[in-house]
Amino acid sequence: MSLLVVGTIAFDSVETPYDRRDEVLGGSATHFAYAASPFEAVRLVGVVGEDFPDKHLGEFRDREIDCAGVEVAQGKTFRWGGRYEADWNTRHTLFTDLNVLETFDPKVPEQHKDTRFVFLANGTPSVQMRALEQCDKAEFVVADTMNLWIDIAKEDLLAVLQRIDGVVLNDEEARMLTGETNLIRAARATLGLGPRFVILKKGEHGAFLIGDDLHFALPAYPVDEVLDPTGAGDSFAGGFMGYLASVKNTQPHTLRRAMLYGTVTASFCVEGFSVDALAASDRSAIETRYNELASIVTL
Ligand code: AMP
Repeated sequence: MSLLVVGTIAFDSVETPYDRRDEVLGGSATHFAYAASPFEAVRLVGVVGEDFPDKHLGEFRDREIDCAGVEVAQGKTFRWGGRYEADWNTRHTLFTDLNVLETFDPKVPEQHKDTRFVFLANGTPSVQMRALEQCDKAEFVVADTMNLWIDIAKEDLLAVLQRIDGVVLNDEEARMLTGETNLIRAARATLGLGPRFVILKKGEHGAFLIGDDLHFALPAYPVDEVLDPTGAGDSFAGGFMGYLASVKNTQPHTLRRAMLYGTVTASFCVEGFSVDALAASDRSAIETRYNELASIVTL
């Protein structure tokens, strides 16, 4: 089965209460692709600038992440800076330099247009839509978004929601999108906008999966030391979608199982800056944590 992601490829500058990194590899599609690649080959669609080192493209390819859909545009790669409070759940965006993203028009390569599983990672809703329109054979589509797009591109986002199977939101985004303060009501209101399921992420408190025939909740995998939560949401989605694409099944029971894979994959992401800890994990480390998490949540 095939899995495609469209989203951002970035240089991130991250400050935590304990450490910092400048200009490290990041972006919503990057984290997703690294997270999904232990499960399934990934087709990456995005844009970088002329300053993007070939080394990173080589590392993508080494992980069976196909970069045919990565455009190298004139200008600089997208840059994002963020700072975390000691509770890890509060993040301040310090800057967002769109650079080559400003004029990005996604082009899905001809050989990738038959993709069945599509993830629209965080990015401009109109870009998400243009990428989706090129995937004629898409059977299972999930999207992520953020408060910025709910704020400045809500109409475009509502159009995307009409076309997808599932959406991944954090609690604040779900409240902002629907105007409902109660999370369960916010989830139901989101279902009314189009998707058949919503995944509500609650950071270190775990995630809910809610749909007409779906009710599932999971705590986060307990991690001893968090170094950097950047990309945890994208990594959750990578584990979730990567697993589903690998088993070619999206029945409710399989979606629950995929929630465990998403949770475990995100737990690796937060143990390092950038994609360091994701890159160091493999399928067998993921399976070990999957079994631990399954035993933690089973009576
Ligand atoms: P997450 O921690 O899952 O929200 O994802 C963080 C990643 O999203 C970082 O690597 C950033 O480069 C990327 N990012 C930050 N702001 C945006 C934005 N406005 N659109 C798309 N991606 C973004």
